Formats: sequence, structure tokens, C-alpha cells
Amino acid sequence: MVMDRIELQKLRDLPIEGGAERLGLQVKMHKALCPFHDDHHASLSFSVRRNTFRCFVCGESGGTIDLVMKVLGKDFLDACRWLGAEDLLLSSYWGKTDSMSNNSSHRGEAGRGLPFDASRYEKFFEHPWLSEAARKFLFEERRLDERVVRWCRLTSWQDKKGVNWLQIPYYNQEGKLVGIQNRNLSLGSGLKVQAPRFRFPQGSQCSIYNLPVLKLLQPGEDLYITEGCSDCWAMLSAGHKAIAIPSATLLKRQDVELLSTLNAKLSTKFHMFPDRDEPGERLFLQLKEVLPNLEHHQLPLGCKDYSEYYVTVKG
Ligand SMILES: [Zn+2]
Repeated sequence: MVMDRIELQKLRDLPIEGGAERLGLQVKMHKALCPFHDDHHASLSFSVRRNTFRCFVCGESGGTIDLVMKVLGKDFLDACRWLGAEDLLLSSYWGKTDSMSNNSSHRGEAGRGLPFDASRYEKFFEHPWLSEAARKFLFEERRLDERVVRWCRLTSWQDKKGVNWLQIPYYNQEGKLVGIQNRNLSLGSGLKVQAPRFRFPQGSQCSIYNLPVLKLLQPGEDLYITEGCSDCWAMLSAGHKAIAIPSATLLKRQDVELLSTLNAKLSTKFHMFPDRDEPGERLFLQLKEVLPNLEHHQLPLGCKDYSEYYVTVKG
């Protein structure tokens, strides 16, 4: 495993209490039974601020990597590998919100705690309607297949300020609406209105995209994993079955489990064209840790992501 200082710092910064829980310790009020001595009084305490642990009886102490090394008896590099794989799960669960606040395109969950009211939105997707801006974006710029756009039930609307939005529904495997992502189509159009790039209605669960496709998967069939909806539409338009994940740090434990059981039940073969940049390759490596049969495909030079490649090939 190639690891640079940034990567190492990222592992060090993984929330200590989340790590402890993944190691099997039960954390309550920043305390747990110490795994390093015969403890009956939760002598191990955690400092969330310093991201460290310390036992007041036996004196063991350290950071997240130390905790993994000591509990699992691993050496430094092996502990880092273990954490690298767990990183997928830990960051989403344990209060690391910084990556979410400054990059709303990678938001997986909006309005935490408030349930998503599907009944309020379902009707929008029963009779999808595509505005001129949406048609231009989907069919001219992205060259997508109309059947894919229908399958995904993409629809559009214009708000009172004149901003055009593409409305992207997220369904679970049973086809139940669980979240919506609104994508601003007016950015760069010269419209002088302040609006974010993405918007999510309260309580939207926008984790894995295009889950209904899993019902169509045959045993041994290929499934492409993309990052974000755009690449997923391009992949579907190219004739592949595909899902999208928001980003590695937002994958939840149940998402990872869902994908691993697919492999176990259907011998699904996973494929990925990582974005041609460092985060793209890192995401691939992280997914590979939990989906060992994930196959790497290289995008040609000059194409930063799959949808760009798709448009080039379409000509
Ligand atoms: Zn102890």
C-alpha cells in the first residue's frame, strides 16, 4: 500500500470512538472497558478533541492507529490497512462533517433526524417533464439515451427566481422513493441568481443511486460502480448495468454490506472506471478493500471521468 503523509494523517484523524466500536469495544459517555487489562469499571477514556484514548489503570494510551495495533496485535502498516478499509464506514458515522459542509455535491444525507416525506414528492416522478434546459443538458451535452432518462425518472422544474433544476429521484431496491437530489442547471447560463449547485429536500437519503437496477441483475453479471449520477447515466446509456455512490467517505455500513452480499449471492462482477485523479484512484482502492473482485478500468488520457469519455466516444 502506497501511503503519503496526507493519507496517514487521514487515518490518524479517523474518529477514535468509531474505531473503538469497530474493534468491538462498547463506548458510552466517552468511556469503555479497557481491553488491555481485566477491567470491570470502564477505565478506558476517550478524548474526542485530541482523538486519543487512555486507560487510567494500566496506562495504555495513544491515537486511533495505536488502538488498532494494540487491540488487534497488528504492526503499524497492517493497522493502517485495516483502518483504510474501515475508513469507508467510520467517516460517515462518526461526526466527520467537514467534508460534507464544504462540498454539498457529496452530501449523502440532508436534514439528519427528520424523516423524508416521500408522499410529498412521488407525484413529480409519475409524469416526468423535461424543460428545455433539462433536455439540452441531458441529450445535447451529455448525449444520454432517452430510455435511461425515462428509467431514472428524471424530471425538471423552474423555481420562482427562474432557476432551472433537474430533479433526480433516489429509490431503494424495492423501488420506494427515499430521497431527491436537485441539480442546478442554470449555473453558467448567465442567470444572476444565487443558488447552490445541489439541493436536497429534508431527510433525503441519497446514498447509492439506481438501486432498482439490482433487481435486474442476473447471476455472474457485471455491475459498474460510478461516482455520482452523471457517470451512472453515461454508463447506463453505454448499455451497462450501473449504480453510483456519492463518495467513499459517505458509504454507510449497510451500503457496503449490500454490495458484498450481491457478490456472495449472485457472483456479481464489479467494475469501475475511476476518475483520472488522485481521489478517483483512492476511492477505487478503498472500494477494492471491501469488494476484492472489483476490476479497474483505465480512462483514456484527456478524459477526467466516464461521462466525458462517453461523450467523446459518442462523437
Ligand atoms: Zn487498562
